[in-house]
Amino acid sequence: MTDSVIPIIDEKRIWELLKDSRGARDSGWARQALEKALELRGLEAEELPPLMALSDPELLQALFEAARSVKNRIYGERLVLFAPLYISNLCANECLYCAFRVHNASVRRRALTQEEIAEEVRHLVRQGHKRLLLVAGEAYPREGFSYILRSIATVYSVKEGPGEIRRLNVNIAPLTVEEFRELKEAGIGTYQLFQETYHRETYGKVHLAGLKRDYDWRLSAMDRAMEAGIDDVGIGILFGLFDWRFEILALLQHIRHLERTFGVGPHTISVPRLEPAVGSDLALHPPYPVSDLDFRKIVAILRLAVPYTGIILSTRETPNMRRETFALGVSQISAGSRTNPGGYSEQEEADASQFQLGDHRPLDEVIRDAAELGYIPSFCTACYRLGRTGQDFMDLAKPGEIQAHCTPNALSTFLEYLLDYASPETREAGEAAIQRSLATLPPPLLRKSLRLLARVQRGQRDVFC
Ligand code: SAM
Ligand code: SF4
Repeated sequence: MTDSVIPIIDEKRIWELLKDSRGARDSGWARQALEKALELRGLEAEELPPLMALSDPELLQALFEAARSVKNRIYGERLVLFAPLYISNLCANECLYCAFRVHNASVRRRALTQEEIAEEVRHLVRQGHKRLLLVAGEAYPREGFSYILRSIATVYSVKEGPGEIRRLNVNIAPLTVEEFRELKEAGIGTYQLFQETYHRETYGKVHLAGLKRDYDWRLSAMDRAMEAGIDDVGIGILFGLFDWRFEILALLQHIRHLERTFGVGPHTISVPRLEPAVGSDLALHPPYPVSDLDFRKIVAILRLAVPYTGIILSTRETPNMRRETFALGVSQISAGSRTNPGGYSEQEEADASQFQLGDHRPLDEVIRDAAELGYIPSFCTACYRLGRTGQDFMDLAKPGEIQAHCTPNALSTFLEYLLDYASPETREAGEAAIQRSLATLPPPLLRKSLRLLARVQRGQRDVFC
């Protein structure tokens, strides 16, 4: 089921769009695009260059305001939380920006055993996490790909106090259709994979060895995943490798390709910026650094272009940048992260980590901060558990019906967190945030939310609608 007529990425078309001076200079085009976006209709590639080119402070403000409005209407104050779980830093590839690259002698190699993985998960569950992202380099211990499958089973098997992991997403190298089927059967949530750069020439320059050298094998991975029945996929760009304007237009082409071929686009988009990594000059000196202002533009433009696709921000960013981009469109964040295998039960070790973090705060502090800013941190996993994935999720999400599920589920999973894991200060801030949120709900949603909250108060766990 691949699209044989239109290429997934059409570089020539992207350059034409970027050269189109009418788009880049005329503020009327930008305003027109903002008006359309405010109707939650998304944006097409031709409509993005005028927004990317904005520098006039008033128009920039209008862009950010539009993104805030779209974010609010679709996602409300919910902010989904997760933590990455690095199980191995063995890797056969030579990605010049990554500490795990095969020729980097300054990194200590380690693949966790199943018992070590269980120990990491126990730590994360004790912090209150319910959703994890399993991450590994592209080389598995002797057992091969089944190492990943066994690790997934281990994660789901852990029960610790009142908690457990309810959704495990994975970020691992591209697989064959058959392997993707096995991954689906293992019960993963989202399969996540970043193209890093859609610019073929740059891709060739920064991926020097191993299977990852093959641009097309990576680009077609989501087609194979979807063919295998994984209908929640997450795509992304590693910002800093090439011109972000090119990357965004290419990302949109990738999205439209998936929509054309499978009827549904990606569930999430990740927006990592290159961070310093041990043994990587490239990571220290990104060839196309993305300024903070441009990063905010990227988040806002994505929010407007694909309003129903989640945007994920990691702890690569600083607390301040995270706060700013929550408002502009980010809907999922990691918190309390470690990027070295074993980093939760042992300690953070720079010489085994993938890259430097910008936000080192523990989960409890991130949650308190988010609640004080007016957000409802959510640990909800209901859609995935009830089979509301892929097209089913989008069908519900588009007319805004998902709110009827998301709001009560976000509130009840947040209350679970506050009762079971929060510090007294966070509990106080969180309970106040819940009250503020309840006060804004229309009566049917309020009743539904109060019913779920009451069940959690009575001691029930893992309740959702
Ligand atoms: N090895 C698999 C792969 O490359 O697809 C999956 C795991 S890899 C550790 C996850 C992601 O980390 C990569 O896709 C890349 O975007 C990101 N990454 C690598 N080095 C980075 C750096 N220095 N700063 C920020 N992100 C980085
Ligand atoms: Fe390996 Fe992934 Fe790092 Fe590349 S980005 S070196 S494939 S872990």
